[in-house]
Amino acid sequence: MSTTPTAHSRRPACRACGTPFDAPFLQLGPMPLANNLPRTPAELAAQATYPLDVCVCRTCSLVQTPDVIDPQVLFAHYVYLTGMSDTMRTHNRGYAAHVVQLLGAGPQDLVVDIASNDGSLLLEFQALGVRTLGVEPAANVAEIARGRGVETVTRFFDDAAGGALRDAHGPARAVLANNVLAHVDDPVGFLRGAGRMIGPEGMVIVEAPYVGEMLDRLEYDTIYHEHLSYFSIGALARLAEEAGLSLVRVDHVAIHGGSLRAHFGHRATWPAHGGDVIAAIARERGHGFADPATYERFATAVHANRDALRGMLGELVAAGKTVAGYGAPAKATTILNFCGLGADVVSFTVDRNPLKVGGFVPGVGVPILPVEALAERRPDYAVIFPWNLAAEIARQQAAYRAAGGRFLLPLPMPRPFEDAAERSPS
Ligand code: ZN
Repeated sequence: MSTTPTAHSRRPACRACGTPFDAPFLQLGPMPLANNLPRTPAELAAQATYPLDVCVCRTCSLVQTPDVIDPQVLFAHYVYLTGMSDTMRTHNRGYAAHVVQLLGAGPQDLVVDIASNDGSLLLEFQALGVRTLGVEPAANVAEIARGRGVETVTRFFDDAAGGALRDAHGPARAVLANNVLAHVDDPVGFLRGAGRMIGPEGMVIVEAPYVGEMLDRLEYDTIYHEHLSYFSIGALARLAEEAGLSLVRVDHVAIHGGSLRAHFGHRATWPAHGGDVIAAIARERGHGFADPATYERFATAVHANRDALRGMLGELVAAGKTVAGYGAPAKATTILNFCGLGADVVSFTVDRNPLKVGGFVPGVGVPILPVEALAERRPDYAVIFPWNLAAEIARQQAAYRAAGGRFLLPLPMPRPFEDAAERSPS
């Protein structure tokens, strides 16, 4: 494997406030691109790897990677379809209801979703009688959305796109951006562009994984090249100021292992951040979110997790047990590569997404088989990589478990999956 220098660049300073970076507190690389699944052994062998460092800004506390991959390389063959899981469908339905109710949106109102994927979320808005527009950079995925009846513009979103889309489609009541703000190298320009699209009472509503959950639950496998930023409420408020907006309200939602749903509005309408937001920022400071020692402790725990997972799976294999995986999300790429676990330990993994089946987990080359392979091959153990969906997966795979198969969870410490001990699906 090798690095392709043209695809990788290294940012010297914070992407929110411009403060030069201190040394990274965690280094996960060399790491292949998490979602570029090789289809053949030759593609696997030719795959490039890149550094994957994690820094925290000493000024604005934004946790981020300085390692930037050219989006044309990163998202060219994106295979993650949001419409796939029951958990996501339930989340989308609740999200649409929340937005429509909060804003009192009706048939005349436009809701725009940035990085709208296969249109799954906007279909829920259509069901509530609201006009919709998707913006999606991956041409193949945008085409799927159009086929489902969701008008979708194929383009990357940035500050200029916000102005152009408003000119073409008029002001929006809400601009949604789920799991996309964390993906852009210029989050200030992105947020400013989204702000251009909303009317005076409109809101930009962003969902992003919460760095607090990552710290609490050691979710280091949510770190990969697509995720450039890991937001706290304090960092989001600072970002809003840079973009000329106010952070009006923040909700905690359970999706993706714990996310923030941040509501931004025009300063002319909301001259200050919300009172609850200001109180939450003070609580974050109390929990050490701005303290470098917090992140040093996190890194130490990540290395301990690597030792424990390698030890546990290695002992099982040495004892003649077979170990497989469930799922091939980006998380699997990060954890398997960082822990150095290949097909000699995790002999295969399974995935419901037909676009992933037949490929390999990048870097480590664990083959991805259809879900049925779990019942057919009956490995003694299966590590659930999308641990945020563990309860749903365990329910679907009751037959595998009844036949003696056992699920394992990798984080925060590797352990058997026990129904009663796990939190409800998120
Ligand atoms: Zn900063």
